[in-house]
Amino acid sequence: MNEVKNPKKPLIYYYGVAMMVLMVFNFLAMPWLSQRQIREVDYGTFMEMTEEKNVGRVKLQENQILFTDKEETQVFKTGLMNDPELIYRLKDSGAAFTSEIVEEMSPFLSILLSWVLPIVLFVGLGQLMSKKLMEKMGGGPNSMMFGMGKSNAKVYVRSSEGIKFSDVAGEDEAKENLAEIVDYLHTPDKYKEIGASMPKGILLAGPPGTGKTMLAKAVAGEASVPFFSMSGSEFVEMFVGMGASKVRDLFKQAKEKAPCIVFIDEIDAIGKKRDGQVGGNDEREQTLNQLLTEMDGFEGNNGVIILAATNRPESLDPALTRPGRFDRRVPVELPDLKGREEILKVHAKKIKLSEDADFKQIARMASGASGAELANIINEAALRAVRDGRKFATQSDLEESIEVVIAGYQKKNAILTDKEKWTIAYHEIGHALVAARQTNSAPVQKITIIPRTSGALGYTMQVEEGNHYLMTKEEIENKIATYTGGRAAEEVIFGTSSTGASNDIEQATKLARAMITRYGMSKDFDMVALETVTNQYLGGDASLACSAETQAQIDRQVVELVRRQHEKAATILLEAREKLDELAKYLYDKETITGEEFMAILNG
Ligand code: ADP
Ligand code: ZN
Repeated sequence: MNEVKNPKKPLIYYYGVAMMVLMVFNFLAMPWLSQRQIREVDYGTFMEMTEEKNVGRVKLQENQILFTDKEETQVFKTGLMNDPELIYRLKDSGAAFTSEIVEEMSPFLSILLSWVLPIVLFVGLGQLMSKKLMEKMGGGPNSMMFGMGKSNAKVYVRSSEGIKFSDVAGEDEAKENLAEIVDYLHTPDKYKEIGASMPKGILLAGPPGTGKTMLAKAVAGEASVPFFSMSGSEFVEMFVGMGASKVRDLFKQAKEKAPCIVFIDEIDAIGKKRDGQVGGNDEREQTLNQLLTEMDGFEGNNGVIILAATNRPESLDPALTRPGRFDRRVPVELPDLKGREEILKVHAKKIKLSEDADFKQIARMASGASGAELANIINEAALRAVRDGRKFATQSDLEESIEVVIAGYQKKNAILTDKEKWTIAYHEIGHALVAARQTNSAPVQKITIIPRTSGALGYTMQVEEGNHYLMTKEEIENKIATYTGGRAAEEVIFGTSSTGASNDIEQATKLARAMITRYGMSKDFDMVALETVTNQYLGGDASLACSAETQAQIDRQVVELVRRQHEKAATILLEAREKLDELAKYLYDKETITGEEFMAILNG
């Protein structure tokens, strides 16, 4: 869509222009205006007029003579001459001498012209221009001066090349849900007739980069209505009260442009629970209150639909999510295998790809990737092709770019000692071998021991076949065993341990903990929730909800669980010691091993 950016020229600019006009006025027009009343004539004319008794009043000054005609319609000015007779002649002509005379201009008029008029002009011009400016931005005159407290919402006008639902791959449920909004915006009468009113607000909740912004834009694009977009964090400003005034302004603009879509990104920035703590964030609360007031203020069916996005739906204030406000929640989840494939296809249209590109394969390898990451993978592949001087990207570009996006670039000049390289090779093969030997674990896709900029020294890419919605207890246990497999291999081979397993340890612990505290997979605690997840879409932090005594028990059980799997992994590796050596040597030599090569050696 065409984004109509706010005119960036600040108000001060317009005042500056007004100032310039004024200065020109003062220099050119003012002298002319004040001079208009005094006409300079030569002494001859003055003498003539005196003779013709055509002089009304006269004032002799030190260096000039000011006089009027009989009707006093015009003031004249002429130079002073050495003319001693003048006074008598003037007296004869019936001219009246005066000191006040012929004021060059009345003092009142003079003040008016030189002070009041410029100020009036100055303010008037400034007002006019700022009004024009506000009209341009759709703002109102009650916006504050110099752009403070204005919403600065980005407006996307309707345009044919706007984002459509077809640009958003996967997310079928979300699209279905939002299609209703589009239908409503097209034919509101159908809904009014029956008395149905659209939800005022719809909350798009999901992890970052899953296409929430895209979906909101697509609703506007499909309905071809204006789209106002603003981020929650933009509301919260340095000055108290600014946020609230921005909210007011945003809604004022929106109501004028209805039907339209208002999109508030990161709404949790203003919509966080008001916890009533002393010293809470006043500004945020005021902004939130204003938002609530605005949402209550407009009747349903007025054509303004508010979409908001958040990664932390659970942190929102309940007042915001109650019916009549953001009463509908549309989950926008990470894409599944099919969704990933579709997203890859949508973005692949933008680049030149060779025929051999297998999106399904890439989608399988990029498990857990968000839409934004998938878009990035496609772009990285194209960049890689350019770097290699090719005209199109290939399957191997895509595969390499998955690793780039997930693990970072290859560290070309990282210097590992021979011992380190062996350790990493055994560590990675350890993971893969344990995974392969436990029938329930997914086979590996690829292992490399080329260091990455992310800090990973080696990298095992597991492949999930199809989608998993449930995991059994055994599957989780096997996964833990796989995580411990790297360290187990180091111990089996070198009889010592290295720091390379820190991430594995974290992951294994997390799983083991979840089994006990959240999935009810321990006999001691049965189906009791001991932890609640707080950040579902951002890594899933958990907070304990049990007594200190229970916590100690949980800790013991977690250790027990991980230890059992660690031992199991070690046993598997000891049994397959020969394969372990063979595979590690292969990996050491080649630095990269594919899933097929791995299985061939394992089963060979
Ligand atoms: P969010 O608002 O959820 O954080 P965005 O909508 O800003 O995510 O998405 C970021 C980028 O990721 C988009 O510009 C797009 O290129 C890509 N993307 C994300 N999800 C999808 C999807 N479902 N289909 C196509 N592209 C997507
Ligand atoms: Zn590891």
